[in-house]
Amino acid sequence: MPSESALTIDNLDPSTGLVYSKIARGSATEVGQAVKAAQKAFPEWSQKSAIERSAILHRIADLIAEQSQRLAAAESKDNGKPVSLARKIDIPRAEQNFRFFANIIVAFESEAHSMPDAINYTTRKPLGVVGCISPWNLPLYLFSWKIAPALAAGNTVVAKPSEITPYTAFLLSKICQEAGLPKGVLNIVHGFGHETGQAIVEHPDIKAISFTGGTQTGKKIAATAAPMFKKLSLELGGKNPNIIFEDADLEEAISTSIRSSFANQGEICLCGSRILIHQSIYEAFKEAFVQKVDALKVGDPKEDSNFMGAIVSEDHYYKILSYIQLAKEEGGVILSGGNSLKPEGRCANGFFIRPTVIEGLDQQCRTNTEEIFGPVVTLQPFSNEEEAIMKANGVQYGLSASIWTQNLQRAHRVADQLEAGVIWVNTWLHRDLRTPFGGTKSSGVGREGGKEALRFFTEAKNICIKY
Ligand code: NDP
Repeated sequence: MPSESALTIDNLDPSTGLVYSKIARGSATEVGQAVKAAQKAFPEWSQKSAIERSAILHRIADLIAEQSQRLAAAESKDNGKPVSLARKIDIPRAEQNFRFFANIIVAFESEAHSMPDAINYTTRKPLGVVGCISPWNLPLYLFSWKIAPALAAGNTVVAKPSEITPYTAFLLSKICQEAGLPKGVLNIVHGFGHETGQAIVEHPDIKAISFTGGTQTGKKIAATAAPMFKKLSLELGGKNPNIIFEDADLEEAISTSIRSSFANQGEICLCGSRILIHQSIYEAFKEAFVQKVDALKVGDPKEDSNFMGAIVSEDHYYKILSYIQLAKEEGGVILSGGNSLKPEGRCANGFFIRPTVIEGLDQQCRTNTEEIFGPVVTLQPFSNEEEAIMKANGVQYGLSASIWTQNLQRAHRVADQLEAGVIWVNTWLHRDLRTPFGGTKSSGVGREGGKEALRFFTEAKNICIKY
């Protein structure tokens, strides 16, 4: 639907640099209309049984599965990621998000606490109209990760995808209609963050904000929403360490580190952008890692043989290149990549950067402490466990960390001391949707996933009855 102002935003294919569609530029007016529609739909939706809501969410999941090829093509065109990755990860995960919350809402129990002379029981009611705001890196994957639990719990939603990647959110709106989601239950408003997003955060009738995006935006949202006493879930940036001890299975650690550094062009908040390697295996790791990185294919996202596609936008492309320049100025040595790439043919004007490996930087420099959010990884040696932990924790972020070791005691000891919300041992991005997900320090507030998400999207009320 066009916005009342009829203003639009160009939507670009980052692999060609060409505008291929226009989206409505929503404003506070459209957000106000969306809130009204959501308020009108709330009584009926919230009073449906969990089983009835679950059935509709399952139907949405079915339709995502049926239309997966089309959705994957749309995600790749909008974001620049290889279509093979969207087919394998993004779209199946969006389906699973709806399926998962459709399943667990029917088993979501409330608590009872008995006293010698009384019984307490706690009810959990949906909040009302809630706001969901998501970023461009995993568009449908993260959009659905918020919307599915909000709807399952009985809320109605006003949601904004990133204006850089709006296509699959638009297709999801069609799927929801086809699945029989009642009118007004999910209201997707497209537009800029500082206009549409800000209007969602400021709206007095939106009870909670679930946001995933950058730390600076998170700060701004918190400053607006906190005085209004809105519930807030903030999933923000990361600068995650990937720690390789001398007893690690090197082959496995290297091949997983390729993914954790460069999957989705390094545009995943969980990417391990700082690889910390025990000094006794530093050279061996470096040689084998760089050899593999040199061989990675970058280019047209439509070709399955390419491991990496295009960077999401021109602005972000220049931001990443400026960080590579900064790394050089800070004394870093480029071991692989370090430059942009112009593929021949259809993608000659797209935004491509070679996977980049840098060494020779100390832990305090900007390259090692600021989030780059691109295909750039640094290598640093460490001499003992204490130093590894100190370097790992030496940033303002605390989202995730990976530890590679065969020593179980060390795995537990180090995991316990790392300042991060999500720790992997001998793996990366191994996810069970029931587990709490989120960061510490500047990486966020609150947890998503499983029952944590259902608790966020509901209000607890305790009722105490004296015998
Ligand atoms: P941004 O913070 O720029 O944007 C995220 C979303 O917020 C977009 O929809 C954006 O709209 C919107 N927005 C921007 N300004 C405002 C505002 N003032 N009020 C309300 N909404 C606003 O992040 P990016 O899209 O650039 O995403 C990359 C960031 O996301 C990285 O820092 C990354 O680490 C983080 N991220 C965190 C994850 C986690 O789980 N912790 C997972 C994935 C990414 P618009 O695009 O129109 O500006």
